Amino acid sequence: MDASLLATTAAGDLADTMTQLHGAGCAVHKALLEIIAAFDERRLWQADGATSVAAWLVARLGVSYGTATAWSETAARLTNLPALSAAYEEGRLSWDQVRAAAEVADAGNEAAVLAQALGASAAQLERAARRHRERVGPSGEAIHSVRWWYERRGVQWRLNGYLPAEQGAVVARALETIADEASRRPENGMYDPAPVRYADALVELAESRLAATDPAPPTVVVHVAADALAAGAGPGEIEDGPVLAGPVVRRLACDARLEAVVERPDGSTVGINRAGRGVPPWLARRVRHRDQGCRFPGCERTRWVYLHHLVHWADGGPTNLDNLVSLCGHHHRLIHEGGWTLAGHPDRRLTFLRPGGTPFRPGPDPLRPEVRARLVDPVLPGPGPPG
Ligand SMILES: [Zn+2]
Ligand SMILES: [Zn+2]
Repeated sequence: MDASLLATTAAGDLADTMTQLHGAGCAVHKALLEIIAAFDERRLWQADGATSVAAWLVARLGVSYGTATAWSETAARLTNLPALSAAYEEGRLSWDQVRAAAEVADAGNEAAVLAQALGASAAQLERAARRHRERVGPSGEAIHSVRWWYERRGVQWRLNGYLPAEQGAVVARALETIADEASRRPENGMYDPAPVRYADALVELAESRLAATDPAPPTVVVHVAADALAAGAGPGEIEDGPVLAGPVVRRLACDARLEAVVERPDGSTVGINRAGRGVPPWLARRVRHRDQGCRFPGCERTRWVYLHHLVHWADGGPTNLDNLVSLCGHHHRLIHEGGWTLAGHPDRRLTFLRPGGTPFRPGPDPLRPEVRARLVDPVLPGPGPPG
């Protein structure tokens, strides 16, 4: 914008321009939310390696995880709230107002909520939203209740309920931790989808609570041929257990979570990669401190990370600060088994490349000049008459 024009424009014109630019921002943001909802509905974020639409927004738009979550949740709510959507698009409600109002509104009370929102401050609406949040879950049920019942003549068991977020996070972390450890199905070498693994994890959690007293889990020992591990091709075999596909063995061995007995063709042992040989605790602490969570752009996971060797130790890669990066279970699998590759240096620039080899580029992308010209420039009044 022209600084001299801003210095001389009348107060009323500046104020009017602010309201109009703000309204234009609301209209543009409403369009953005609509696209976010459609993008999420079709789960298109998966193709970019993201774990959720919020994680994708963090990576591509450079926003915080809190902002991304607020956008995606509000976007989903607004798809069923046409009057609130229209008020936002027309600039009659600010983002802070529409976000809080959308949390309280449903098809039955939308008109009343809108009428109230148009005269209320953002802070008032946020207080109402918080009270609503503390009382009821998204479908109107009381929070902090879990129910279950049998369905379809007793062949299925259904679980339903709500917990306050901090308690739910404990349950989610336990299920994710167990699900992350699931191995591929031996018959087809594929992972079960995450919801299936969470279901298994829930059963495992219950079984382990009810199980007999032996607390020490058996050590998982994998036998793998030395040349197969280096080539990344051959399978490994869990002692008294299933055969694992080659990439799985390399992933497990990468972080040294397992004891790999590496064997020559004649059956003699080349070496044993014990937990501890991989990454010593002092080094693991330094890598985790440097990375502060999974390094995949936009990934919000800071706990339960694996230490990935950029050059696998089986290929001669060193176990040091320069060759290790933190990745969550999802993104570690993406690298070893999902066709993604990771290049660069952990201290300078890390580039994640899609299966086709194109780099995944974090955002935000700058506004193109023609778009900017359409949105911003026509709003300010032109230079007034000279004098
Ligand atoms: Zn790895
Ligand atoms: Zn991750």
